[in-house]
Amino acid sequence: MGNVQSITLKKDMAKILIIDDQKLHALSLEKILVNAGYQNTRCLTEPLKALNMVQEYLPDLLVLDLIMPQLDGFQIIEQLHGFRRQHYLPILALSEGKNPNARLRALQAGATDYLSQPFEDVEIIFRIKNMVETRSLHAQVENQNRALEDKVRDRTKELREAQFDVMRRLALAAEFRDNKTGSHIMRLGYYCAKFAESLGLTDAECEFLLHASPLHDVGKIGIPDRILLKPGPLTSEEFDVMKTHTTIGAELLAGSHSPVMQMAETIALTHQEKWDGSGYPQGLRKEEIPMIGQICSVCDVFDALTTERPYKKAWTPQAALEQMSREKETHFQPKLVDRFIEIFPEVERIRTQNPD
Ligand code: C2E
Repeated sequence: MGNVQSITLKKDMAKILIIDDQKLHALSLEKILVNAGYQNTRCLTEPLKALNMVQEYLPDLLVLDLIMPQLDGFQIIEQLHGFRRQHYLPILALSEGKNPNARLRALQAGATDYLSQPFEDVEIIFRIKNMVETRSLHAQVENQNRALEDKVRDRTKELREAQFDVMRRLALAAEFRDNKTGSHIMRLGYYCAKFAESLGLTDAECEFLLHASPLHDVGKIGIPDRILLKPGPLTSEEFDVMKTHTTIGAELLAGSHSPVMQMAETIALTHQEKWDGSGYPQGLRKEEIPMIGQICSVCDVFDALTTERPYKKAWTPQAALEQMSREKETHFQPKLVDRFIEIFPEVERIRTQNPD
């Protein structure tokens, strides 16, 4: 904690605010403090300005006369409750010794310490010294906490980046057999994040989708070459094997505590479901299909149609959108297709910037 030292409150740096309506009292106290080495003091003789002054000056310590006209010290302590919830501000309350209840009342109201007048200079100096030291320790702890929070934040970011990196490599490994460049999964991530944003998903959900959706077909790792790379149409037996890529993928990704990995698992399992219930592997219908699975399905089919596969030529984007429009209600939730068409200029930009 190298910078802890630097924030240790030096005596001459401690900001001390004296609030006393009697100017003479305030000035003589200020003189005592200055003589004791406290150079950074201010006096306020108008109690009504106390809150503003505290907010603006941000003192390290407040010396407060309790008995004042218009607004007394107890009311000022009350006014400062909100401020003191955010900032550590010790208050030394001063009052005439004749009032025996004042001490208890002041401490109950929230004063940190109390001194009855008249007092000896040395006594107030010691009290202030102690309070400034406590203030300093508090500042050190606050600073350490902030430094720790920063470290935790940086570390969490590093871990997340590492996790995203591993996810991307896993998706690339799965994709490698039928697409050496990995461009399909990159485009898919971008499409899904952009599409999700247009549908009102949160920034965090969009970021997770960017990294989770490329794993949608990770289960194709378990599909034999003779089926995955077959240049022609699949037989129904072959297609049954092909369908297992959804469950294989979900099993591969299952059991993680990480929300982004859980999202990837859900996508792997549900991206081949269809709105009318004719999809696989579970035959889910309509809203039973998680939204992230539906989002991925729209983007995946668009990308599959517009790119070349071992078993088919690439379609034009226009032909792909027309086909997807024909599949509203059957394959896709209609409003999702409509929204995807609305954001088509963005989709097209991603497509042209990330060619095969
Ligand atoms: P994929 O190539 O990534 O295709 C994903 C989805 O895009 C397909 O899911 C389908 O819904 C849509 N799609 C792709 N190409 C066409 C097309 O020419 N016409 C239409 N109407 N839709 C298309 P699906 O059908 O469940 O296929 C899942 C995966 O199975 C495909 O992923 C691909 O790897 C494989 N596959 C599907 N059909 C064949 C085929 O005839 N031959 C071979 N070798 N593989 C196939």
